[in-house]
Amino acid sequence: MKALSIIPSQKTILLTEREDPQIQGPYEVKVKTLEVGICGTDREEIMGTHAELPLGEKELIIGHEMMALVIETGSNVSTIKPGDLVVATVRRPCDHPECYSCKGGHPDTCSSGLYLERGIKGLHGFQAQFVVDHEMFFVKLPQSMRSYGVLCEPAAIVEKAIDSAIEIQSCRGLPDWDDPSTCLRGKKTLVAGLGSIGLLTAIILRLHGADVWGYDIVSQDALRIQLFKEIGGSYIDGKKITPSNIASHYESFDLIVEAVGVASVTINLISALGPNGICAMTGVTEANRMLEINVGSLIYNLVLNNQVIFGTVNAGKKHWKRAVRDLEKANTVFNRIAERLITHRFSPHEFQRAFFESSEDEIKKVFVWGE
Ligand SMILES: [Zn+2]
Ligand SMILES: [Zn+2]
Repeated sequence: MKALSIIPSQKTILLTEREDPQIQGPYEVKVKTLEVGICGTDREEIMGTHAELPLGEKELIIGHEMMALVIETGSNVSTIKPGDLVVATVRRPCDHPECYSCKGGHPDTCSSGLYLERGIKGLHGFQAQFVVDHEMFFVKLPQSMRSYGVLCEPAAIVEKAIDSAIEIQSCRGLPDWDDPSTCLRGKKTLVAGLGSIGLLTAIILRLHGADVWGYDIVSQDALRIQLFKEIGGSYIDGKKITPSNIASHYESFDLIVEAVGVASVTINLISALGPNGICAMTGVTEANRMLEINVGSLIYNLVLNNQVIFGTVNAGKKHWKRAVRDLEKANTVFNRIAERLITHRFSPHEFQRAFFESSEDEIKKVFVWGE
């Protein structure tokens, strides 16, 4: 089969020929890859950071945002069958005896750091014609999601961020966050960074009735800002307003979801948090970034306003299921919005162009592996 592989030490990506993976056990499933999205993580892996080779291998097949068709199942597989449309989760549990998260089936909160991730950390990814994995790592999609199901991975990350915020707020006894099915209605929310993660966050928040402001530094004409406004979002132009001035123009927010990954922006967003506010951080900032900030007022507000700041990564199976449900609903409610987030489709041969050329109007780029 064909696959897109990287050699981290050489900062190269190649279209390679490899043996097809085969079903080895009774619970395994073989799928034919249909589409695989690309994101900043893939680019960082090509440039030599993040990626970890599988044991004893010289190359790593990249890709972690996939959608596929089931073609073969092991003898004990009961939850999916050939012909099903599926997506595969990314993280695989560690076997550390004291990692209760992984033991309990929640590798997204692995505490040992020894988890593996397909296409990123120690396991081959999905930019390949075929994939084999245990049935427990697949989530079934309705066939109606064929043209945008590849968005499930980034959407699952968003679902975890929003769900965690709701759970934290409800657990600490805030009555207006009590009912997870209605608590977002009318909440004042800010999404910082309107890339694919930010846009998906805005879409899911709007779907659940929140009022959404979005912060970015691109022009109003950019496609992603157009789409953001179309779902009812209010755009804050970062070229005119700095993160620390957001509150003086728009007052404070109940929930902030950060999807920027730039330390100087992220840290200053906290000043826009209101009383009892909560801020979810999803962006990975550069390590060792030194900044001069007013720590005194940051902690002062945090304490006197009962604020929470938390970080969130990856997603659990329940978030994947919510991603499927919400993407399908949002695509209907907001005039095919999910389909329109996929702006570019490439054949695997076009990998140079897909990874190294960019345009103003790109939101999500995907490789097409099969029909
Ligand atoms: Zn990604
Ligand atoms: Zn673990």
